[in-house]
Amino acid sequence: MQILVVEDEPRMAKLLERGLVEEGHSVVVAGDGAAGLELATASAFDVIVLDCMLPVMDGLTLTRRLRESRNQTPVLMLTARDADSDVIQGLDSGADDYLTKPFPFEVLLARLRAVSRRGAIPRPVYLEVADLRLDPAAHTVTRAGESINLTPREYRLLELLMRNAGRVVSRDKILDSVWGFDTGVTENTVEAFVRLLRIKVDAHEPRLIHTVRGTGYVVKAL
Ligand code: CA
Repeated sequence: MQILVVEDEPRMAKLLERGLVEEGHSVVVAGDGAAGLELATASAFDVIVLDCMLPVMDGLTLTRRLRESRNQTPVLMLTARDADSDVIQGLDSGADDYLTKPFPFEVLLARLRAVSRRGAIPRPVYLEVADLRLDPAAHTVTRAGESINLTPREYRLLELLMRNAGRVVSRDKILDSVWGFDTGVTENTVEAFVRLLRIKVDAHEPRLIHTVRGTGYVVKAL
């Protein structure tokens, strides 16, 4: 395979290059995000091994730029951090898989095989329902191109509903996902937040946030 490795740490880059070449791959190494993006755009690679923390342009931004330019080359993201939010951000930005450093080289090879076998999957950068668009990487929401200002809680509620677009999300699930273990929050609070969200999001037709009586809420274009 033709593999692009974007890694700023010289020792790690050398290790990856040597190991992958030994496996019979042809490898190009870039030392920062901007150089990586330029190479990825200029020629076709089978897969990109991408460090998350990079100078000039970080891995998440690089992936987003690639996907925005309709480049669907599979991306295996490497990160030193394993916090859930980083993983989610990485996948939201359009990465195909994730590996936390340090990792055994065998695991990297196995993941590379899996990612390249799946090939280039068109992966939407945005969540969209009708003219409502949520950008998970930038944390912005627009309706018919007009930006909507949401509080962090309202944003999480809308993101949850949009990730499940077309499916009913129960009030319990909303309480769990948006408020977590914050006690004292009741289903009335959920209803109040949905009302606020509707005022901002559903200011014009068609209405997208629907109540399913006795169960929960669903976002969909009727
Ligand atoms: Ca790094």
